[in-house]
Amino acid sequence: MDYVIIGGGIVGVSVAYALQQAEPGARVQIIEKETELARHQTGHNSGVIHSGIYYTPGSYKAKFARAGSESMRAFCETHHIDVDICGKVIVATDEAELPRLDRLYERGLENGLAVEKLGADQLSEIEPHVNGLAAIRVPTAGIVNYTEVTNKLAEIFQENGGIVTLSETVSAIDETRDRVVVTTDKQSVEARYVVNCAGLQSDRVARMAGIHLDMKIVPFRGEYYKLKASRRQLVRHLVYPVPDPDFPFLGVHFTRMIDGEVEAGPNAVLSFKREGYRKTDIRLKDLGEVLAYPGFLKIARKYMKTGVGEMVRSYSKSHFVKSLQRLVPAVTASDLEPAPSGVRAQALTVDGRLSMTFTS
Ligand SMILES: Cc1cc2nc3c(=O)[nH]c(=O)nc-3n(C[C@H](O)[C@H](O)[C@H](O)COP(=O)(O)OP(=O)(O)OC[C@H]3O[C@@H](n4cnc5c(N)ncnc54)[C@H](O)[C@@H]3O)c2cc1C
Repeated sequence: MDYVIIGGGIVGVSVAYALQQAEPGARVQIIEKETELARHQTGHNSGVIHSGIYYTPGSYKAKFARAGSESMRAFCETHHIDVDICGKVIVATDEAELPRLDRLYERGLENGLAVEKLGADQLSEIEPHVNGLAAIRVPTAGIVNYTEVTNKLAEIFQENGGIVTLSETVSAIDETRDRVVVTTDKQSVEARYVVNCAGLQSDRVARMAGIHLDMKIVPFRGEYYKLKASRRQLVRHLVYPVPDPDFPFLGVHFTRMIDGEVEAGPNAVLSFKREGYRKTDIRLKDLGEVLAYPGFLKIARKYMKTGVGEMVRSYSKSHFVKSLQRLVPAVTASDLEPAPSGVRAQALTVDGRLSMTFTS
């Protein structure tokens, strides 16, 4: 092989697809441990096509988010995959958030987005049930089903000669000067290059190759409810709070999904298993590693209050509802049904810093 890609989520499949497009004729193989592609983060997310408003202007993330959202839309149009560019509103619900909302608006402009600032009256015209002092409307944000996108990329990749190997777990990587041997539970594959796209297992896969890392993946489960069908009209856009700079991935929001559902959440709690989607899922190896990790102990001590709040919300529907009511006061507990959760691969450095996705 020329390239072996470890992991068949959207990142692995996109990398394989892009390598093949850039180098027609290259021999590329994806190795995925599950029986299907997109079984983990890619198949358990909210499906939002983010437009990149949060990122530092000029950074790669800002450029990639904008270019990525445009190319995602173009890819879906070409291949007849449903996309809804429904737009997003980011809503300030108290005075203290207004300066941060202003900075976000400036950032949106610097990132070249057609953002609009809305006062309370303008907000209630477009979102009658949303409570806010002011808001930003991001018209280019949209929704899609990323599993469908991944499967379409894989289909084209295979039509062009790419190999997708399912149900094989990579267990060893041995590197020599010009070759890498990737060993699974069923075979060994020799390649010129290997690309690690193993998501929640990516630190372990890196260590298989003898790479020293000063970070670990700590799994955080995002738990959701969904609005009952009769209450979906409570929101028309994606409705988000102003992000907390320390925890940009926290803060419950309302997300319209491409299948018509409206997801409400998430909270974020430590998952006791890397790929554990239920509260009762525990894997002692995963949990033991986290609890013994100095980086985790540091953030656990520092952000104890936030963590406890998230755990309370995990077990108490009334707390969850209260958080949602900040954005949509009319929502009640009886409007909400449990929805599937997802587990996020959060990189945490040994000195206790979360490697943020929303910053530089
Ligand atoms: C709750 C939640 C909501 C999110 N919402 C959004 C959103 O709205 N919009 C957005 O853009 N992003 C969102 N994200 C982030 C997005 O889902 C991820 O960034 C993306 O799916 C990462 O893709 P990936 O391919 O890196 O990981 P994954 O999809 O997790 O794929 C990694 C793959 O590697 C495989 N693997 C691991 N180890 C091995 C091994 N040893 N051998 C073989 N295979 C292996 C796994 O089985 C898995 O299939 C969300 C994430 C979560 C958790």
